Amino acid sequence: MVLQSWDEIKGFQNEIATIMENSHTLDRISHSYIFEGPNGTKKRSTALLFAKSLLCTNPEGFNPCNECHNCRRVDSGNHPNLFYVRPLGKVIKKEQIQDLINEFSKASVEPGPRVYIIEEADKLNLTSANTLLKTMEEPGSEIYQVLITENYDALLKTIVSRAEILHFKPIDRSIIRRQLIENDIDKNIAAAISEYTVDMGSAIKIANDANMTGIIDLVTKIYHSFSTKSESPLLLFREQSNLILNDLELTDFFLTLMIIYEKDILNFQLRHLDDICFMDESDTIKQLSEKMSQKYIEENLSDMLSLKSRLKFNINNKLAFDKMLTCLERGYKYGTHCSSDSI
Ligand SMILES: [Zn+2]
Repeated sequence: MVLQSWDEIKGFQNEIATIMENSHTLDRISHSYIFEGPNGTKKRSTALLFAKSLLCTNPEGFNPCNECHNCRRVDSGNHPNLFYVRPLGKVIKKEQIQDLINEFSKASVEPGPRVYIIEEADKLNLTSANTLLKTMEEPGSEIYQVLITENYDALLKTIVSRAEILHFKPIDRSIIRRQLIENDIDKNIAAAISEYTVDMGSAIKIANDANMTGIIDLVTKIYHSFSTKSESPLLLFREQSNLILNDLELTDFFLTLMIIYEKDILNFQLRHLDDICFMDESDTIKQLSEKMSQKYIEENLSDMLSLKSRLKFNINNKLAFDKMLTCLERGYKYGTHCSSDSI
């Protein structure tokens, strides 16, 4: 479903929505835009809303009515005046651009604006880019284009110079967290996921992946075990270690969450309470923060971050994780410091 209004974009990309609305008010909508920014920053959603706003026959300001025939066809992905180009393999081929231009040279099937959206526009090769440039030099008054890229530096300068560039910023973590909670995701899980990714698509995927939510649960249990001395953190970890260590993404997820929890303990000690991720864990976090010096927690964090950077190259992650957990356990339970190179 395509977004319904520019207010919805404001929740994620306030500046971009404002620029678009102002351009419309001032009658300065550009015919060529480049939407650039990291994955998960709503570039494609914004491009589709832009197309719907242009094609709507009954807009209010620059907001589409979401009810007319045109709006409904954009929503269902089959408006004849809305075109997409995506790379076939590693490049966008010249023929793909030629097909697009041929479409435009025909009288349109329907009157009104025509919009094309090129995804991964950095994959235009020189020939296809030159073909495209010809249309950009003389854009028909009713033709609009949006080029989307995560790799702005790889775009050809000749293309960049002919378009208005909008920079999409990474989405605020609190927005991801709020949206997950609105989707009935448990508060602790929502908080942890929003610290891990700012891509809404990945966030939803993780929230629905039992292995990953199981890992969030495991991390909280491990930290509880440091505080209550009831269970062995190593045994808890080993129950799931085959699953975690056989998949680099899960290994990274587990370690990232351990780091987030450790940071929470530090933030509690520093009274940076707004920065705490696992808010439902405040009792355990408080207890652990009282047991250890700031220096000790900082050393833990530094060792854990160093392990994270080595994950991909570590031949024996199992050993490294066992050491990490043993060191943390010794520290939090018995106040014994590990030497800093032991993780
Ligand atoms: Zn409409």
